[in-house]
Amino acid sequence: MNEIKVKVFNNLTRSKEEFKSVVPGEVRFYSCGPTTYDFLHVGNARALVVGDLIHRTFKALGYKVIFTRNFTDVDDKIIDKAKQNGVDALVHSAKFVDECIEDTKSLNMLPPTHTPKVSDTMKEIIEFVEELIAKGYAYEKEGEVLYHVPKFESYGKLSKKDLKSLEHGIRVEVDGHKLHPSDFVLWKPAKEGEPAWDSPWGKGRPGWHIECSAMARKFMGKTIDIHHGGVDLQFPHHENEIAQSEAANGQEFSRYWCHNEFLNFGKEKMSKSLGNVITIRQFVQNYGGAILRQVLASVHYRSTMDWSQEVIERGMNDLERIHTFIKSYQELKKTPSNEAANSEHLAEVLKVIPQMKEELANDFNTPGALSHFFGIIRFLNREYLGEGREKKALSLELIKAIDELLSFVSLATGLVYDDPAPILEKINSARKNFSTAEGKGGKLSDDEITKLISERTEARKTKNWGRADEIRKIFAEAGIELKDNPDGTVTWKWK
Ligand code: AMP
Ligand code: ZN
Repeated sequence: MNEIKVKVFNNLTRSKEEFKSVVPGEVRFYSCGPTTYDFLHVGNARALVVGDLIHRTFKALGYKVIFTRNFTDVDDKIIDKAKQNGVDALVHSAKFVDECIEDTKSLNMLPPTHTPKVSDTMKEIIEFVEELIAKGYAYEKEGEVLYHVPKFESYGKLSKKDLKSLEHGIRVEVDGHKLHPSDFVLWKPAKEGEPAWDSPWGKGRPGWHIECSAMARKFMGKTIDIHHGGVDLQFPHHENEIAQSEAANGQEFSRYWCHNEFLNFGKEKMSKSLGNVITIRQFVQNYGGAILRQVLASVHYRSTMDWSQEVIERGMNDLERIHTFIKSYQELKKTPSNEAANSEHLAEVLKVIPQMKEELANDFNTPGALSHFFGIIRFLNREYLGEGREKKALSLELIKAIDELLSFVSLATGLVYDDPAPILEKINSARKNFSTAEGKGGKLSDDEITKLISERTEARKTKNWGRADEIRKIFAEAGIELKDNPDGTVTWKWK
């Protein structure tokens, strides 16, 4: 059972509140997932990773979590893209559902409990719309069903907009069948060649907002505990979800609402329409998913984040720090000491999980939690792993405590990998790609590097210091750092 009090910044009240779930010890969590019309970009990855970190935080704090994240696989953007490519809309979106799942795996995300698609939820969506009509919140005209916003009295409670100011904001005349300019579509008739389903209002397809209300209820019941999405979804999408669910169910939809801030590119939001996107796939191919995850997890979800060379470099360095530590630790624990643990050192290690839990429970502060983890890595490097001093064997008790800590960090953050070697290799080649991409060097092939290293070793043996220096300079210019190890070997890495 979870013993720590969780605090969540609830956008319904714009304040940090103590988290109380409907069923103690359990969390019903919904996060709005992607529209599957193209490859996702690193801005979408931020929303996905934040959802995953919320999921992981509750698990790491001992909650049972039911987590639903949808795929919007029926949508205008999908239909347009599929037309351009001359393929069926559902075939097109099925491909990008698969691509998205591949991206989430590269980002080391835990699978949600449920990942419904709109195309698989049609029965529940239609029933939901029927209920809204029966209760007088929606109306149908010529095959189109609209939600009548003025009928829902607390409309605007999440986005803090009132209907009057919304009316002033809308200059266009009430279009089509709308009785009020804020009314929104629940169901629309299909045009020729578009995907369509039978309904009491003829062949058609749902509007965007209704899917989340129907899916949340289908998998988690009428009141869920916590709902997440990007900050752009707060209005109108989440406001409309509340209007639909609370009108149909007659009870509160979600107790807490969390929104992640944007990942910006320069001064702008990263978005497809601005053409400034880097896809998750491109990044993963060049640098690897572990680095992207580290970069995205390093900033609190309520802070805006700038996509810059600096944050990527910091991500690489942090990930390297963790896995260089794990590599040395795995080596050292093979020959443990049989002596009792140094009790002060043991206490230092044992206090880290509670410290990290405290941070995570404070509005999902993953960066705060990680700072404690980096603190203990520094401590163990200094005391045991030979950074600046000799290596010292670890007692069995200390090993047990460190293993438990690593499992905890792995579950809570997804930033710790059991096998550090491929991660460290990936970081090294990422640095090379990064150096090349940034024009900082990267002119040497792996073969040339190996040859030059042997030539330099030979030059040093024959006391040809001039050539040895020259080679060091070549490496420096190519952005490579050499390290002469005490055993006479030379290792190198991209700076
Ligand atoms: P979309 O496919 O545009 O509906 O977006 C899917 C999710 O990604 C939503 O939760 C958006 O809020 C989120 N999102 C889109 N662009 C960004 C961005 N630049 N930074 C953070 N989240 C974003
Ligand atoms: Zn949604």
